[in-house]
Amino acid sequence: MAFLELRDIHKMYAVAPLLSGVSFAIERGEIACLLGPSGSGKTTLLRIIAGLEAPEKGSVWLEASDLTSVPTHRRGVVLMFQDYALFPHRTVAENVAFGIRDMRYGKPVKLSRGEIARRVAEMLALVGLEGFGDRDVNQLSGGEQQRVALARSLAPQPRLLLLDEPLGALDRTLRERLLEELPVILRRVGVTAITVTHDQEEAFALADRVILLHEGRVIQSGSPEAVYTAPRTAWVARFLGLDNLLPAIVSTQIPPQVVTPCGQFTLESQTPLPAPGTVGMLLIYPTGIHLAGRNVGLSRSPLQGGGDNAFSAIVSQRLYHGRTYAITLAAKDGYRLHCIQTIGDAPVAVGQTITGWVEPGALRWLDS
Ligand code: ADP
Ligand code: MG
Repeated sequence: MAFLELRDIHKMYAVAPLLSGVSFAIERGEIACLLGPSGSGKTTLLRIIAGLEAPEKGSVWLEASDLTSVPTHRRGVVLMFQDYALFPHRTVAENVAFGIRDMRYGKPVKLSRGEIARRVAEMLALVGLEGFGDRDVNQLSGGEQQRVALARSLAPQPRLLLLDEPLGALDRTLRERLLEELPVILRRVGVTAITVTHDQEEAFALADRVILLHEGRVIQSGSPEAVYTAPRTAWVARFLGLDNLLPAIVSTQIPPQVVTPCGQFTLESQTPLPAPGTVGMLLIYPTGIHLAGRNVGLSRSPLQGGGDNAFSAIVSQRLYHGRTYAITLAAKDGYRLHCIQTIGDAPVAVGQTITGWVEPGALRWLDS
C-alpha cells in the first residue's frame, strides 16, 4: 500500500458535485502537486486530507490506516494555508514554536525551553532566516512571512505536509527564487508533501508527480515529463499551455498518418493510432515546427518524398523573448499555431507567407 491513498472521494457543494470520485496514491518522501484551474476543488481536497472537512463518500489512508475517524490534530498532517495564517504581533520564534508545542504526531509534547529554542533555530536556519527569531512577523516582507510559515509547518515534523498555493501571494522575482528553494528544503527534510497550484510551471518545477484535477476527478497523473509529453486529452494539453491543436482524422495506421484542415501529417512510426476514419485532435509541440520562406532556409531537412508534415501559413506575430522569438502563425481556416525561433534561425517577418515543417516526434494524437 502507498504511503498516502485517497479512495473515491466525493464532495458536494450546494447541489453541484465538486469532487466526484478522486483517487490517487503518493509514496513516502514524494512531492506531489495537485494542479487544476481555480474552483476545481484543490483547497477542498487538502482540507479533506487534513480532516478539516469530511467527504460524503470515500476515505483517506495514511501509512495503511484509515483517517476517517481520526481528528485533525491527531493526523500528523499539517496544512499551510494560502494566506500563511501567521499569528500577528508575535515574534517569528513564537510563531515557529507554536507548531512544536501544540502538535507532533498528534500528541502534545513537553519540551524544555532550551529544546524548543534549539528546534526553532534549526527550522529558521533551514528556511534561510537565521537571526530572525525576535522580529515581529508584521514587519516581515511577503517572502519572509512565507518562510516563517514554512518553518512553522515543518517544526512539528509532520508525516504529511500540505501546501495550498505556497507561492501564490508572492511577486514574480520572489516566486522564482522560492520555486528553486522550496523543493530543496522539502527534500532536505525528507517530508512527504502535497502542494497545490493552478500554475503548471510551478507544478512542474516543484513536483515529482503532478496530479491533474478536472471536473471533480483526476484526469491524469504522472511525472511532469510524462504528463507534458503525453497529455491524455485536449483539455489537459490546453491547460498545460499546449494549444497547437488541429482537428484530425486518421488516414492510415501504418505508417501513422492523419489529415487536418492544414495538411497531412506523419507521426513517429511507433505511434499507435486508432482505425482509419477515427476523428481526434493532433497536438503539435511548438519546438518541433521549423519555418521556411522565400529567403529562409529550413533549419532541418523536410521528410523525404511529398509534402507531408508541411503547411502554409502567414506570420501574424513575432514577440522577442530574449534568446528566442515566439512566433504566431495564421494557418489555413483560421487555425493559429505557435512556434519558437532562436537567434540563429533565419528571421521571418510579420505578414510573410511561410512554409512550416513539423518533426514527426513533435506530433501527438489525442482521442476526442
Ligand atoms: P480551488 O482551491 O481549486 O480553487 P476550492 O476547493 O476552493 O477550489 O473550491 C471550489 C468551489 O467549491 C468554490 O468555487 C466554491 O464555489 C465551492 N466551495 C468551496 N468551499 C465551499 C463551502 N464551504 N461552501 C460552499 N461552497 C464551497
Ligand atoms: Mg484554492
